[in-house]
Amino acid sequence: MNARATTPSPISHLADPTLVRSFAYINGRWQAAGDGAAFAVTNPADGSFLGEVASLSGDESARAVDAAHAAFRRWSALLPQERAKILKRWHQLIVDNREDLSILMTLEQGKPISEARGEMDYAVSFIEFYAEEAKRANIQSVTSHLPDAEMELWMEPVGVAALITPWNFPSAMITRKAAAALAAGCTVVVHPAKETPYSALALAELAERAGFPAGVFNVVTGDAPVICGPWMEDARVRAVSFTGSTPIGKLLYRQSADTVKRMVLELGGHAPFILFADADLDRAVDEAIKAKFATSGEDCLAVNRFFIERPVYDQFCARFAERVRQLTVGNGMDDPDIGPLMNEGAVLKQEDHVADALAKGAELLTGGARHALGPLFYQPTVLKNVSADAKIMREETFGPVAAIVPFDTEEDVITRANATEYGLVAYVHCGDARRVYRLSRALQFGMVAVNRTKVTGAPIPFGGMKQSGLGREGANAGMRAFMDIKYVCRDWADYAQN
Ligand code: NAP
Repeated sequence: MNARATTPSPISHLADPTLVRSFAYINGRWQAAGDGAAFAVTNPADGSFLGEVASLSGDESARAVDAAHAAFRRWSALLPQERAKILKRWHQLIVDNREDLSILMTLEQGKPISEARGEMDYAVSFIEFYAEEAKRANIQSVTSHLPDAEMELWMEPVGVAALITPWNFPSAMITRKAAAALAAGCTVVVHPAKETPYSALALAELAERAGFPAGVFNVVTGDAPVICGPWMEDARVRAVSFTGSTPIGKLLYRQSADTVKRMVLELGGHAPFILFADADLDRAVDEAIKAKFATSGEDCLAVNRFFIERPVYDQFCARFAERVRQLTVGNGMDDPDIGPLMNEGAVLKQEDHVADALAKGAELLTGGARHALGPLFYQPTVLKNVSADAKIMREETFGPVAAIVPFDTEEDVITRANATEYGLVAYVHCGDARRVYRLSRALQFGMVAVNRTKVTGAPIPFGGMKQSGLGREGANAGMRAFMDIKYVCRDWADYAQN
């Protein structure tokens, strides 16, 4: 029996089933692949089939740039207030459909439903923020250094922007980029991850209802190199904003060189969590759980390395492991603490990092194996006394495995925390304000969270140092990434004659 043909997909049970779209969205139309090609989307919790989504060709993908390029002149010429009105309608439609969008996300991505709802709230916050920010981009005047000239700086949208997004935040990574680009006056072509196309296509459906003109917002589904390759070669694509792994980010950076595109790269992380003995231990344990296990550990902000000052090391390890043993694991629709991982590769990585750490002398406090619930579930795991040369101390684990080591001095922990090619976020728990200041200065990370975990939001510039990326998303900086500065210098003589 063909399960695909006989079992109704759970996504057909949404309150508004018309949010479920299976074709790409190009130039205001829903488009199947010319050759009928499609790829399957499955629920990572149980492997069940959710549906098939169109897999377009390179030529079809290039048509999305044609459409975005053609739409750019009129979209960029609109008053920012007009663009803001459409963005606000999109915002409201997403708010109105929050529950359906959250369910869709949990079904295709696996994350616990309350986390999916939280992601939707985070996703819409960028649209609201940039609808307002759109009105504040221009104009700056310059105090002239020439006696006979008047000077202005104009912020102008760069043109077509390509947005390439990952599966771990299937909606927020799109709105964080798209709202900024659209507010700036750019038009966009979006490629969502193959695991989570439905969330992206539902956002396109709501963008259409919000009234974005044809060609302004396009979503193209299919094999990533096939879809994104033509965009990277196309000189009309003036900016690329990518969130995903560091190797693919580097590839796109190289590919963009020939046409000198603007780049925003939000890449991997390898966050340190540094706990000093004078911190509030109860609070630190609470925050450590959040900082490690949110999004089932599949989060660029997730802690990869716990550095604990020696006087509280054993106590922290015991209390943290006890809390981890209590975490619930299950199907995201049942709202556990931890859902399934995204794919087999993710599970293999947990197994590899745990086996490697144990072989190098680590001690297992809890977990350490696949979970009985199914092939994509992995037990929340805690390792202590992990060797500095273990993979988990150098590579992004991207899953529910925590590695803990002790430290003795401030200088030593700063050196070890910075000993990574990544530099996205660092967490510091400490009761001494002067030490907090010194660490905040010394840590080579784009974001430093002190005595708390949640630090992100639309008004802050999110991004990393070193190989965690380039540029920032959110805040005014996020919109400026999609704008060029034009400097205009006018000679006073022309005005003086009149
Ligand atoms: P990924 O494999 O790099 O994929 C990200 C996106 O790139 C997907 O749309 C993917 O499409 C596409 N892609 C893959 N190969 C490509 C190619 N050759 N050319 C053009 N596009 C290509 O990353 P992921 O596994 O989805 O996401 C996990 C990574 O994202 C982690 O490293 C995490 O740290 C990072 N991340 C960073 C942030 C941040 O803000 N810094 C936020 C979230 C996640 P397909 O899915 O179709 O292959």
